[in-house]
Amino acid sequence: MPADWQRALAVVAHPDDLEYGCAAAVAGWTDQGKEVGYLLVTRGEAGIDTLDPATCAPLREREQRESAAIVGVTSVEFLDHRDGVVEYGLGLRRDIAAAIRRHRPELVITLNHRDTWGPEPGGFWNTPDHKAVGRAVLDAAADAGNRWIFPELTEQGLDPWNGVRWVAVAGSNLPTHAVDAGPGLERATRSLRAHRTYIEALTDQDVDTYCRSFVAESTGRAAARFGGRPAVAFEVFPR
Ligand SMILES: [Zn+2]
Repeated sequence: MPADWQRALAVVAHPDDLEYGCAAAVAGWTDQGKEVGYLLVTRGEAGIDTLDPATCAPLREREQRESAAIVGVTSVEFLDHRDGVVEYGLGLRRDIAAAIRRHRPELVITLNHRDTWGPEPGGFWNTPDHKAVGRAVLDAAADAGNRWIFPELTEQGLDPWNGVRWVAVAGSNLPTHAVDAGPGLERATRSLRAHRTYIEALTDQDVDTYCRSFVAESTGRAAARFGGRPAVAFEVFPR
């Protein structure tokens, strides 16, 4: 995984998307003094069946901020698209390009934009929000550098940023790179546990056990190709 960068921006659809493994890499990076910001396209307000969205949104936002702080991330922003019905399109590309221009990252991180989790055939169908956001992030990395694609952003004082060198997709079926998960593993587990309300609604399992086994499993999947060590795998698109 490229290491010669200072600023990263992770852009995902929902609170918790970064915590199922990717946060282990983030913890390692912030340990090294790198800056990582989080941009959430929604507040995940449609994620808990027993909570109406108006009650759920602030709660999930709070859990996400807590979760980010555990792995050294203090910049957490929300775009206010509606959870579950995020549409790929110019509006989404523009909003993400604007954030990239504000943060000026060299590395952009997102979550699986492909149709399935796991190899096809036989993988689980991915959600429309993940697919829309992942694809829009890959596109917006280029949009951010072109002053003529969204001229209204320049008018708002957001100058083009053509400095994104890689977009790294976590959870992809086709990983090309990996980061040692070891140093950040414990904090990654705690950062997932910070989504307590969500996870309690999701599973009958004990929350601690669920988080520990999920993060171990997701970082263990890449181990066979990473010297037997737990790793966070990414599909890296260079620019
Ligand atoms: Zn999600």
